[in-house]
Amino acid sequence: MKWILFFGALIGSGICDRETFSGHQVFRINVRNGDEISKLNRLVNSDNLKLDLWKSPSAVGHPADVLVPSFSLREVKSFLEDHGLEYLVAVEDLQTVLDNEDQQMQHNVRQELSSNCFNYGAYHTLEAIHNEMDNIVKCYPHLASTVEIGHSFENRSMYVLKFSTGEGRQRPAIWLNAGIHAREWISPATAIWTAKKIACDYGKDQAITSILKKMDIFLLPVANPDGYVYTHTHNRLWRKTRSINPGTTCIGTDPNRNWDSKFGEVGASDNPCSEIYHGAHPNSEMEVKSVADFIKNHGKFKCFIDLHNYGQLVMYPYGYTTEKAQDADELDMVAKNTAKALASLSGTQFRVGPIATGIYRASGNTVDWAYDNGIKYAFTFELRDTGHYAFTLPADQIIPTAQETWLGLKTIMEYVQDNI
Ligand SMILES: [Zn+2]
Repeated sequence: MKWILFFGALIGSGICDRETFSGHQVFRINVRNGDEISKLNRLVNSDNLKLDLWKSPSAVGHPADVLVPSFSLREVKSFLEDHGLEYLVAVEDLQTVLDNEDQQMQHNVRQELSSNCFNYGAYHTLEAIHNEMDNIVKCYPHLASTVEIGHSFENRSMYVLKFSTGEGRQRPAIWLNAGIHAREWISPATAIWTAKKIACDYGKDQAITSILKKMDIFLLPVANPDGYVYTHTHNRLWRKTRSINPGTTCIGTDPNRNWDSKFGEVGASDNPCSEIYHGAHPNSEMEVKSVADFIKNHGKFKCFIDLHNYGQLVMYPYGYTTEKAQDADELDMVAKNTAKALASLSGTQFRVGPIATGIYRASGNTVDWAYDNGIKYAFTFELRDTGHYAFTLPADQIIPTAQETWLGLKTIMEYVQDNI
């Protein structure tokens, strides 16, 4: 029996097929001018090196982070040195970091089994997150319910928590989106903590009680369920969906380039092997289409917030152009107040600005679509950190991150409540 269970556990987690990153390093590369940016782009785009650009150099003084496989280390180092690009090794051995994360998760699974209690300070599988959503509904049936808005490419549920005191009436609403990029684990972890916080604080905290008297909140903790599962079973650093692209073995589309908003223009790739592949056509990804259809059919969404990591940024449209959005001044003011509220808890500094200048130009992205479809209060957060741990933010930072983010989210939601 023990053997069967053990074997079953291996199959269940897909642990045998996991991609390893032994000896892979993360380089932080400083770029001081346009010439250095084009040199960096040349390096990152060389197919044979298999580099993964974790963070673009958003501006001079904000360096790029690049994952370099062990087999490319020598070549990359000599390129950087030959071209006079400053760099440092931010992560010495990525696999060591991932092994620690994995050990912590396994330890937590054992603890949760014995305590029968969901630990909000740990990372979880999709199944555990969906179970906890059901638990929240069980504990707060007067406030919370679940809605299945569709399915993913691999037929997983697009599972949404709805918070409402409207007794079935269609009211103005807020959409909180998380986990659209699979490897950004802090995003679903922050989202599920936020769900519990909303449920617990309703009736106790004046701000959230008053928001929920007027508006509904819809929260999608894992917007890319196939990708998220794949980060647990096969490749911790997977970003895209898991849809099949005809004519190539490269899998997946960047769901944050797949929205019907200046689709296929700047900052997106038509190469299915790229991490920013925009997909065959707008809404080609079932995950994106499910959310877009739900929001359009509902018709009363006033606010859309998308949670990513990393970089510590609060951003607003546009991503597809550096031209100013019509409401840019107001959105900038709200974003600045949001960053101030976020910093008030433990001093974490967030930069503020439009996506195109804050991070990089990106067409077909989520919040541009929301904004162009009449949802004025559209924001993207890049949560902790600024690159030290990047996508592998340690679990002991989940609750501090969620707590500070909550202050930011509340600032936006209160503003929306007062201005619709
Ligand atoms: Zn992201």
